[in-house]
Amino acid sequence: MSRRAIVELGDPVLRERAREVTPDELRSDAVQDLIDDMIETMRGANGAGLAANQIGEALRIAVVEVRPANPRYPYKPPVPLTVIVNPVIEPLDDEVEQINEGCLSVPNLRGEVPRLMNVRVRYTDREGEQRDEVRRGLTAGTFQHELDHLDGILFVDRVEDRGTFSTWEQYDRLHREQFEQRARAIVERMGS
Ligand code: ZN
Repeated sequence: MSRRAIVELGDPVLRERAREVTPDELRSDAVQDLIDDMIETMRGANGAGLAANQIGEALRIAVVEVRPANPRYPYKPPVPLTVIVNPVIEPLDDEVEQINEGCLSVPNLRGEVPRLMNVRVRYTDREGEQRDEVRRGLTAGTFQHELDHLDGILFVDRVEDRGTFSTWEQYDRLHREQFEQRARAIVERMGS
């Protein structure tokens, strides 16, 4: 396992549609090692998730994990480590909330992104088992952010009100308190 360099905005690998992983590839040491590296890289950077193209591999693999009191996103409820291969996402309704997001590939920028609050995610796990899960609230937003990466989409593309862009320092100073209040209300209402 090793922590890898995170690719940043401007590198074309973040703008490609990553390709599907075959069952043989998923079983291979190369892809299993890649998944281990993604987990270590996400944890080392205090991320809530990481997509394979964020470490330069254009494959449809993402990892999500929120440990309690994540320093980047302290309002996010815990999510156990989830390895997502070849995911497909489906909205369950049209409920949307504006979520203040950041991204390890977009240093020092946050902004408000509309995210569906109720989604079904179908994917293969790292053992090759098919999974079908409903994700709600802030966790649904986290999954949408990671799945967007696999289609070459960054959160900055989805920001509707460009006036919400802010550096992390200005977010802390001017926006954090109000957004965390909204985030807590979402968690209370949606359960995650
Ligand atoms: Zn990201």
